[in-house]
Amino acid sequence: MRYTKSAYDAAEQIMQDRLRKAEEERAERIEEIRQKLPEVYSLFMSMRSVGYGMLSVIGSGVGREDARAKMKALREQNESTRETVRGMLRSFGYPEDYLEYHYFCSTCSDRGYKEGKRCGCMEKLLKEQSIRELNKNCSIKLHDFSEFDLNFYRGIKQEGYDVMSKMEMIYRYCVDYSMDFREDSPSMLFYGKTGLGKTFLSSCIAKYLIEQGYTVFFGSIIKFFRQLEDEQFGRKEGNSFEIISDADLVILDDLGSEFKTSFTESKLYEILNERMNSGKPVIVSTNIDVTELDKKYNERIVSRLVSFTTVEFMGNDIRQEIRRLGR
Ligand SMILES: [Zn+2]
Repeated sequence: MRYTKSAYDAAEQIMQDRLRKAEEERAERIEEIRQKLPEVYSLFMSMRSVGYGMLSVIGSGVGREDARAKMKALREQNESTRETVRGMLRSFGYPEDYLEYHYFCSTCSDRGYKEGKRCGCMEKLLKEQSIRELNKNCSIKLHDFSEFDLNFYRGIKQEGYDVMSKMEMIYRYCVDYSMDFREDSPSMLFYGKTGLGKTFLSSCIAKYLIEQGYTVFFGSIIKFFRQLEDEQFGRKEGNSFEIISDADLVILDDLGSEFKTSFTESKLYEILNERMNSGKPVIVSTNIDVTELDKKYNERIVSRLVSFTTVEFMGNDIRQEIRRLGR
């Protein structure tokens, strides 16, 4: 996948920070051992000077065979000292690798690349950075499930439903959805009038999953299409379409608010189709009633949307409730 320069810069910065942290923490552990276990420390330091010994063999101009034999002996000596140090550390109740580097990624030793190839840890960072940039461009505030307040739905009856218990079920469903999230979790269509908590609960799902390490795109559909158009017509750098195709979860907020063109319609179809084919979930929220979708979108789009788990939100506009309850 192509990434933007800023995604590379951010990922490389994190990689450098990880490496520096591994070095600093090791230096601190060495200092601790120097103070607490001087005999282990001096043995450890003698091993390091064996390392320098190797350099001096290389630089000493002895014959190649001689040098090879000396290096081999030094390496063996080094290895046996390392084992002794490990054993001593263990006997003093320390982990045996206490004086070694503890890298975030042991595959590439926090370099990001191994044998000229990008390491999986670097790839993961690039994906995370890309989606973070895209989320910033299509920004919606994230919320926590604990902020959800069922009191806004108290005492309201609609279509024979007690709205508060219906919304409590939806809330529980969203919490369970997040906790049991898998790459092939079902897609959902949140529908209902403005101000009933669709965006809020979507943002709770997004926040929870981002904290669990999933890549989640969560954005307003207007801003996302604007971003796609800017990239399409060369006004901005980026590959947002690829980024969201790759994300574990895509949340498109406020379907129907976008200015509809053949571009937005074909992109919307492509996204929904792509997600369905890959089996990865998408959550779409809309103010359009599910029975009215076909008035705004073509049949191919509607057939995909209605195949999702549909979740109807009820109640009164929360912004009005806030005023009514004087909060
Ligand atoms: Zn790595």
